[in-house]
Amino acid sequence: MTLSLHARGAPLAAPEKQIAAVEAVDLSASAHGGDFARALAASGRDALRPGPVEIFQINLGKLCNMTCRHCHVDAGPDRTDEMMDRATAEACLRALDRTGAHTVDLTGGAPELSLQFRYVVDEAAARGKHVIDRCNLTILLVPGLRDLPAWMGERGVEVVCSLPHWRKRGTDAQRGDGTWEKSLEALHLLNEAGYGAGDPRRRLTLVSNPVGAFLPANQHATEREWKEGLAHEHGIAFDRLIFLNNMPISRYLEWLESSGNLASYLELLVASFNPGTIDGLMCKNTLSIGWDGRVYDCDFNQMLDLPARGSSNGGFHVRDLDVSALAAREIVTRRHCFGCTAGAGSSCGGALEQA
Ligand code: SF4
Ligand code: SF4
Repeated sequence: MTLSLHARGAPLAAPEKQIAAVEAVDLSASAHGGDFARALAASGRDALRPGPVEIFQINLGKLCNMTCRHCHVDAGPDRTDEMMDRATAEACLRALDRTGAHTVDLTGGAPELSLQFRYVVDEAAARGKHVIDRCNLTILLVPGLRDLPAWMGERGVEVVCSLPHWRKRGTDAQRGDGTWEKSLEALHLLNEAGYGAGDPRRRLTLVSNPVGAFLPANQHATEREWKEGLAHEHGIAFDRLIFLNNMPISRYLEWLESSGNLASYLELLVASFNPGTIDGLMCKNTLSIGWDGRVYDCDFNQMLDLPARGSSNGGFHVRDLDVSALAAREIVTRRHCFGCTAGAGSSCGGALEQA
């Protein structure tokens, strides 16, 4: 089993080393010199600026039952020290009330392992928010959590499940041997709880990212293939499939380096820069809160320790969130942002533009 970068004491466990590794690649011959700010300027933008907060994303902690090769969080079973406590969860809910966000998006690690998970779901659902659980599927088989499909269904939680491929090979290659069988078992549990049958209060979304250094295929065309394959071969139904680009950070960055793909993948991201994705970037409508309450423009910036700009350069805590200051800020960008604007684009909601 892969260990987290943190557990191995690997240099890339440090966010600044990740930023440096990506910035060190010579992209002077690429479009815009591989500089995201220049790419934005060439598209007529001086910087990225946020719109109203629609999605309030909370990272409940880095603990996970899995250690996937491509994890951008560097999550794993050893990450027990970075978990949200109740006071921070309460501060998140107070901040949520000050924004106009309609959706609460729970992520991790495996968010279901957090002691705050059921509390935050209940509180957000009671406020009439749409709640998303970013689920790795295998967690639903863990003793003590097998009631979750029914429990979440009763609260109208959308379950967004990661599954690299509907066939065994691609899934086990990225997530570890045996993951595919467990994922199918978990999908059956979700179907039995009413998920995946078109009920908007039991929406089952699958999310996939490429098993390699390339961009995803067309989302809609592939959704048809997955729906037919999973239905005919395994009797499983789901509502929609979304694709994410792999971001050159954390364990995926480590894999790019060790496989000799880092420079070519960055060149691909830069060459595939698509200005049509800019208005839909998730940093424009989503706020990302870390396990310790610090506020970020997006989940990727959170993992790179690039806090949202506040009154001080060191960022700010969710308890101090000021909605007007937030609206006036400039979003922090670096070279990894090309991962969001490449091809059809990529966000927590999948592709930003369809071919
Ligand atoms: S299941 Fe998700 S959070 Fe957990 S190790 Fe895999 S990619 Fe990371
Ligand atoms: S990584 Fe993506 S979502 Fe985050 S700031 Fe950059 S462009 Fe925006």
